[in-house]
Amino acid sequence: MPIYDYHCQACGNRFETLVRTGVAPVCPQCQSTALEKGLSRIAPAGKIEAIRMAHRRVAAAQGHLDHYSPSDKAKLLKGKKNI
Ligand SMILES: [Zn+2]
Repeated sequence: MPIYDYHCQACGNRFETLVRTGVAPVCPQCQSTALEKGLSRIAPAGKIEAIRMAHRRVAAAQGHLDHYSPSDKAKLLKGKKNI
């Protein structure tokens, strides 16, 4: 799965995200779609997992734990304690 660097033209935020075909990326900071795409590369497996967990922590913070398996919930709760 490719990973891309983006530079948000609306707020200047720089971030990287996994991009699925047909899904337009948005800035995680301001939700703008005015993004400048930078380098792409194949994400190392560990990086993908880190990004997935980061996304899940955001979802969890918003109360969407129901979408996750018990093992993922355990990881999330464990991760929260470490913060
Ligand atoms: Zn932005």
